[in-house]
Amino acid sequence: MRRDAWLALLILVTFVVGGCGGMSAIIPAAAIAVKGAGKAAEAARPITDSEEYYVGRAVAARILGKYKLDQDPKLTQYVNEVGQTVARKSSRPNPFKGYHFAVLDTQEINAFACPGGTIFITRGLIQTCKNEDQLAAVLAHEVGHVANKDGINSISQARWTQVFTAMGTEAAKQYGGVAGNLVSLFEGSIDDVFKTIVVNGYSRQAEETADAAALTELTRAGYNPNAMVILLTTMEAKGAGASSGIFKTHPPTSERLAKVKASVGQSPESQGEKIRTERFKKMVS
Ligand SMILES: [Zn+2]
Repeated sequence: MRRDAWLALLILVTFVVGGCGGMSAIIPAAAIAVKGAGKAAEAARPITDSEEYYVGRAVAARILGKYKLDQDPKLTQYVNEVGQTVARKSSRPNPFKGYHFAVLDTQEINAFACPGGTIFITRGLIQTCKNEDQLAAVLAHEVGHVANKDGINSISQARWTQVFTAMGTEAAKQYGGVAGNLVSLFEGSIDDVFKTIVVNGYSRQAEETADAAALTELTRAGYNPNAMVILLTTMEAKGAGASSGIFKTHPPTSERLAKVKASVGQSPESQGEKIRTERFKKMVS
């Protein structure tokens, strides 16, 4: 079996063990087929886009083990439309299988960017947004994390070296050989990413870069970048003293707000923004 096929199999195992039936709603099972030939794996090499995607799926499955997927198809479609609009204007518009946006059914204020382009936003954060431009600001920030590969880069080099070395062995090519070890090695890298995005958060630098990327995406997509200032102002008030959700994994909102404010001018609400706000209000109740 080719190395890539092994990887797909391992992720499928992780996916099934993770037990997230709702995931099929956003990621078709057919996507499991993997392209690309692979010779014996080298001990250390850059992670490919397809590997990043499959790691991201497994991380997404892990997140769906913690949170429930929202079942409102209209809201999910709307979030996808807004998300795709900003993603197209990002520095990485075409990851391996594109971007997928989904809503988590929780009042917690949070959003997660899985490696490769699966992005979750909670109902709690959607409801914190007052209009479509603010929703776009959140999604643009998460797209920024995917574009900068912050998730996949949270896997330690030592961990990847272990995985690649194990994959390259003859025994690993036979199911039942060291496959058990291989799965557990791979689980380790999923754990690295999950812990970073759900528990510990990225570095301050990564967050600052994602905020800057968001402003660029918003501007290019025709959204009002000032929406980010307004949203962060709301979040600052809501998150005062909070140490959960997005407030736990991100730098203090006041710091983010100060930096974003410094690079955004005052933009009055345009006619287009008013129309988008009406659309948002119809979708989000
Ligand atoms: Zn972030």
